[in-house]
Amino acid sequence: MNFLDQLIAPLYTMPLGEVAFWITLENIAIFAATLVIGHVLVKLFADNRNAEPPPPIIRLEVILAASCVLLNSLITFIGAVLWRADIIRLRPESSLLGVLVDFVILFMAMDFAMYVFHRVAHHPLLYPIIHDTHHRFENPRPLTLFVLNPFETLGFGALWLLVIAIYSASFTGMILYLTMNVAFGLVGHLGVEPAPRRWLNLPIIRYISTSTFHAEHHADRYHNFGFYTVIWDRLFGTLSPDYDTDFTTAASG
Ligand SMILES: [Zn+2]
Ligand SMILES: [Zn+2]
Repeated sequence: MNFLDQLIAPLYTMPLGEVAFWITLENIAIFAATLVIGHVLVKLFADNRNAEPPPPIIRLEVILAASCVLLNSLITFIGAVLWRADIIRLRPESSLLGVLVDFVILFMAMDFAMYVFHRVAHHPLLYPIIHDTHHRFENPRPLTLFVLNPFETLGFGALWLLVIAIYSASFTGMILYLTMNVAFGLVGHLGVEPAPRRWLNLPIIRYISTSTFHAEHHADRYHNFGFYTVIWDRLFGTLSPDYDTDFTTAASG
């Protein structure tokens, strides 16, 4: 059992009220840390803007972000209950290779599933109900990552629970994936481009999404539906034709 497995072991038998308390605290801590790191990155890369600076924060953004954190806590809680009921099984894993394999599987499976989910969310019948809320904020800031319609937060959460119910991953692999999920979400909503200009010339790396990639989606909702990679957009012809130019203009180095 590694450190992370030991950390969650008490949650298996703890009263559910206490489980809910720790999970909510964890989600609030992730939210706060994300905003602090985002603030630092925006300051550090202030000269590399890929979107107009956002207008002052409005009350709706704060309410939606708070509801997103609470719903994320609910999804984590449901995950914990499913784990205690043996519906979600965590695979004991001590090798680094095993953890990395878990990470790559979760990363690619979720990237594809979220690409499909995101394109469906842009269907004219669903868009006003579940996704328009996020697109009301055309010039993103770190907080925008959490400014989601509650249906959308629950939809992504259900997708995640479904994937880990099907694929029995190690807890360390899951944490690695979830950390990267928040990191990619944050980078996509910085409004500045931290990646160096040579990014698009590097083999494999150039398929990894950038801040400009998602900033373009906020400016042009008909392109760039992917999250972690540009693979699905390239494959299905939805990559913005301006991606290379916009990225090169924003990036430095
Ligand atoms: Zn966004
Ligand atoms: Zn969208």
